[in-house]
Amino acid sequence: MERIKFNLSEREMPKRWYNIAADLPEPLLPVLHPGTGKPIGPDDLAPIFPMALIEQEVTRERYVAIPEEVLEAYALWRPTPLYRARRLEEALGTPARIYYKYEGTSPTGSHKPNTAIAQAYYNRREGVTRLATETGAGQWGSALSFACNLFGLECTVYMVKASYEQKPYRRIMMEVWGAKVHASPSRETIAGRSMLERYPGTSGSLGIAISEAVCDAASSGTTKYALGSVLNHVLLHQTVIGQEAQRQMAAAGDYPDVVVGCVGGGSNFAGLAFPFLKDKLEGRALRAVAVEPAACPTLTRGTFAYDFGDTAELTPLLAMFTLGHTFIPEAIHAGGLRYHGASPLLSELVRKGLVEAKAYGQTEVFAAAVAFAKSEGILPAPESAHAIRAAIDEANEAKMRGEARTILFGLSGHGHFDLAAYEEYLRGRISDCALSDEAIARPLGELKNLPKAG
Ligand SMILES: *Cc1c(COP(=O)(O)O)cnc(C)c1O
Repeated sequence: MERIKFNLSEREMPKRWYNIAADLPEPLLPVLHPGTGKPIGPDDLAPIFPMALIEQEVTRERYVAIPEEVLEAYALWRPTPLYRARRLEEALGTPARIYYKYEGTSPTGSHKPNTAIAQAYYNRREGVTRLATETGAGQWGSALSFACNLFGLECTVYMVKASYEQKPYRRIMMEVWGAKVHASPSRETIAGRSMLERYPGTSGSLGIAISEAVCDAASSGTTKYALGSVLNHVLLHQTVIGQEAQRQMAAAGDYPDVVVGCVGGGSNFAGLAFPFLKDKLEGRALRAVAVEPAACPTLTRGTFAYDFGDTAELTPLLAMFTLGHTFIPEAIHAGGLRYHGASPLLSELVRKGLVEAKAYGQTEVFAAAVAFAKSEGILPAPESAHAIRAAIDEANEAKMRGEARTILFGLSGHGHFDLAAYEEYLRGRISDCALSDEAIARPLGELKNLPKAG
C-alpha cells in the first residue's frame, strides 16, 4: 500500500528557523518612522517589542537557533503531519501528485502557535508581564492566549467586534486560557474611543484592533505588543513548517513543482514556502503561489507602497503591497485573510516575480473546501480553503495538459469553529461581491502624502 502520511520523529524537528532575508537579491526597504519619515532604529520599537524580537526583525543571519524551551513547547504538537491527498487526486482524476502540510493539529487548530510560543518566550525572558494583541476571527488571539498561559504571562486581546459578536467560541477558548478579551473598537484605549467617534456603529476591523493593542502596550511599562503575521520575526518563526515539509517530501521521495499557500498577512505561506524558495534562489525550478480572497486582494490589486500597519496610523511605515490602511474589506468568512497589507518579505518576493499571486471568490473557495472534506476527511478553515482551491486548479491544469505535477499546499488550520460559514454555504447563502476599482482607488489615494517606496 502506498503511504499517505509522512510523520517525523521529535528528534527530526528543525532546531533553527530559516531567515530568507539572508538570501534576498536586495535588502528590504527600511521601516520608516511615521513622524520623521526616517528609518527607525531598535529604540523606536523598544516600547512595544522585546529586544530579542527586534533583533530578529532586522537580522540578516541565515539561521536563528530555536531556544530549548520553545522546542519543548513545540513538541506538544510538532512535528505536524504531511499527507499525500490520494483520495482527492482520485476524485479529480488528475495525474498530479498532491501533498498537504497540516497545521490544524496544534492546540488552537492553526499554524499561529508556532510564533505565539516564541513571542511569549522572549517577552517573558525580558521581564514582560502582559501581552496585548488584536484578533480578527480569533485564531491569533487563541494562539497567543495559549502561549501566554504556558509562559505565565497575562494576555489582553482586542477582538474585531463583528467576530466578537458572531463567534463566541473562540472568545471562550481565549478566556479558558485566562485572557481578557475586549470587543474592538472598545472604550479601553484612546485609539478605540477615537475610532468610535470617527466611525460610529462600526463592526471594527483588524487595522482598528491593531491600533488599540499597540496603544495599550505603548501606555504600560510592563506590557508589550504581539503581532500574529506580517513582520519578519513572525515569518521567521513559521519556517519550522517548510523545513519539516522538506524532510517529509524527501521521505516521500518527491519534491514539489509548485508550493501553494493562502495569504492574510503572509505568515503560513512564508512558513511553508520560504525554505523551498531558498532552493529556488539557488537555481532549482519551483513555482510558489500565494492565494488571497477576491474581497481583500492585497497582492493582486493593491499597490507596493509605504503604508501604516493599522488604521489609526500608530505603527511605523512598512514598504509592502497594500490596499491602504483605511480599506475595510467585506465581512467574508475567511476572517483571517481580511488584512489591508501583506508582509514586506512576501511583498518583495512577489515584486521580484519569485512568487505568483492569485485571488478567488468565496463560493469557489467553499466548493473546494467541501470537495476536500469529502475526499480527505478534514474540514478546513475557510482561510486554508483558498490554498485548496488553487491546488485543485493546479491539479486540473495538470490533467488538461496530461502532465505529471507535484503540488504541495499548506493546510493552515481546521474549520471546526467556522461551521456557521459552512452552513451558509450549504444553504446557498454565500455570495461573491465584486469589488469595484473605485472602492480600491479611494483608500489608496490616502497614501499619496506618505514617503514613496523606491
Ligand atoms: C490567521 C490565519 C491565516 C492567515 O494568516 P497568515 O499570516 O497569512 O498565515 C490563514 N489560515 C489560518 C487557519 C489562520 O488562522
